[in-house]
Amino acid sequence: MANWTGASSAERRRIADVWLGQFGEALQRGDYARVGAMMHRDGYWRDLLTFGWEFTTSHGIDELRAWLPGAAGGSGVRGFRLEGEPSLGAMAEHGATLEFFFTFETAIAHGRGYARLVADADSPEALKAFTFLTTMKELKQFPERAGRNRPREDLRVSSRELESWLDKRNAARQFRDNDPEVVIIGGGQSGLMLAARLGQLDVRTLVVEKTGRVGDVWRDRYSSLKLHNEICMNHFAYVPFPDTWPVFIPKDKLANWLEFYAETMELNVWTRTTFLGGEYDAAARRWTIRLRKADGGTIVMRPSHIALAAGVSGIPSIPPIEGMNDFIGRIVHSSGNTDELEVKGKSVLVVGAGTSAHDIAQSLHLRGADVTMLQRSSITVVSLEPSSVRPYELYRQNDGVRPIADTDLIAASVPYALLARLHGPLSRQMAEDDKELLDGLRKVGFLLDNGEDDTGYFLKLLRYQAGYYLNIGASDLIIAGKIKLKPGLDITRLTARAVVFSDGSTLDADIVILATGYRPLQETVRDMFGDDVAERVGPIWGIGDDGELRGMYARTAQEGFYVAGGGLPGARAYSHYTALLIKAALEGLLPSCQPVPSVTQSMEQPTAHGRTERPDRSSEQRELAAE
Ligand SMILES: Cc1cc2nc3c(=O)[nH]c(=O)nc-3n(C[C@H](O)[C@H](O)[C@H](O)COP(=O)(O)OP(=O)(O)OC[C@H]3O[C@@H](n4cnc5c(N)ncnc54)[C@H](O)[C@@H]3O)c2cc1C
Repeated sequence: MANWTGASSAERRRIADVWLGQFGEALQRGDYARVGAMMHRDGYWRDLLTFGWEFTTSHGIDELRAWLPGAAGGSGVRGFRLEGEPSLGAMAEHGATLEFFFTFETAIAHGRGYARLVADADSPEALKAFTFLTTMKELKQFPERAGRNRPREDLRVSSRELESWLDKRNAARQFRDNDPEVVIIGGGQSGLMLAARLGQLDVRTLVVEKTGRVGDVWRDRYSSLKLHNEICMNHFAYVPFPDTWPVFIPKDKLANWLEFYAETMELNVWTRTTFLGGEYDAAARRWTIRLRKADGGTIVMRPSHIALAAGVSGIPSIPPIEGMNDFIGRIVHSSGNTDELEVKGKSVLVVGAGTSAHDIAQSLHLRGADVTMLQRSSITVVSLEPSSVRPYELYRQNDGVRPIADTDLIAASVPYALLARLHGPLSRQMAEDDKELLDGLRKVGFLLDNGEDDTGYFLKLLRYQAGYYLNIGASDLIIAGKIKLKPGLDITRLTARAVVFSDGSTLDADIVILATGYRPLQETVRDMFGDDVAERVGPIWGIGDDGELRGMYARTAQEGFYVAGGGLPGARAYSHYTALLIKAALEGLLPSCQPVPSVTQSMEQPTAHGRTERPDRSSEQRELAAE
């Protein structure tokens, strides 16, 4: 075993095969001491729905001991098999890792996982798992109707039917005879991908979208916007972008893709339909919801499930500023249409220094405005190249080499706590590579940080979706003085024509743009469903004490309520699990999640898939702010 790094691929395969065989056997036997001994003492095991209806991360032997017996016991886990060829990699302080995909099954599901084995200083002869990911691929009884299992009709029978495919599509879309089982609020990328996944599982799903056309959420954003991350990581579930598309997708091109996707995946989307609110009837296990239709009328529906996919940004946060009513210029929040503002030759103050603030300031400068940015607190800035792409290197390397679902699995195998560890040194390296850019910014007084625990922008994205900027040019304009800067200040008040800052200085301004971020998504839940549901669901987004994203894609403590949202990679990868949870609930496989048990209770449950939701133990609710 000592020379495994230099072993032939056949030998590596044998090593992985033997290791996995022993591991699987020990797990099946319930020999958790042996399983624990095969994990590295610093190892992470992440499970997405196979050993419980939740996302779980255990780190180190003690956490594993507390989690594993309750989780794996009674799950019927068996049949671990190596899939494909193991590869060599490296992670954290481990200069060499042996990595491989594997499959397995439980009593009710087919699973798929990814393991990363490393040498162990305590027992050099043995390889141990540094990361181990187990995920539910499909419910055995309800496989997805895709690939070889795609829908097949008997043409001899269907050719005698009067209804065409189009007739059936139109009827399904209208929900004339029955209510949908799931209503998804919002037809952005998250809502659409979740709807597509549910459709593949034969779940009757309606997406309600308040704008006039699917994709308008992107069409309505400022015209200069292109996706900041590369196409290789942004593909949609089931339908990847064409090979001919550019690396950075313009927002209107993406908008049209959303519309195309909804049609091609046969999604039932009602546009010009606004979700107004709803209540949950726990006895009937159904929601009563109200929708405002295009004609202004309101209709009531009774789905069993709601998925909120109305954008993770929530409601714009508009700080109260003294003198707002005295100001005779325009005050606009960054979520509004800043493109339509007539700005040539005008003095514009952009309040905030997050991504939107930078993008808008850059666009305003381009259109001839005299722009000043008010930076209230420090942010992290990274160059687009080489730095911002580093966290996505995996997607770049695997682009066109592996199916994106495989890359998603490899990405999911790195729990958030481990990501934070990796991003310490990585972000410091980025700062080193970006020295010239960052020094330039410091010189003009721009306030910089590297995240609260020195882990850089990527962890800020995961924690707050805010507090960073990937430089696509605005930083250069700030350094060159073409976008002026007011760092470390706040607005004291507005007068008729000027802004007065906290240091007593003033700026004559025609327009003030508030790139001040958004209120927490929990407040959107409160507005739509009331206090009880909002409190049960708890804070959404950010990493919770259990090491997983709070309230996103997983079960919430509110029965029949899910939240989907965020960047394209997450929407693609995690909608798979939300769809499985909803399907399992509809088929009676998912136990009720109310009342919410204590953490101890939930660990004591005897069988894995009889367990209920781990409550959110995080105390802090963070505001999704632009800086
Ligand atoms: C300027 C900017 C640049 C970005 N760049 C990137 C990027 O490069 N890569 C990336 O992955 N992400 C990027 N993002 C993040 C981006 O917001 C998300 O990726 C994406 O928009 C989130 O998709 P979503 O489906 O969760 O929400 P949204 O796209 O916000 O969609 C929510 C939908 O819900 C609808 N809706 C809301 N309320 C209701 C209601 N009551 N009834 C009915 N419908 C409703 C809205 O009209 C909207 O269509 C960017 C965001 C911004 C603002």
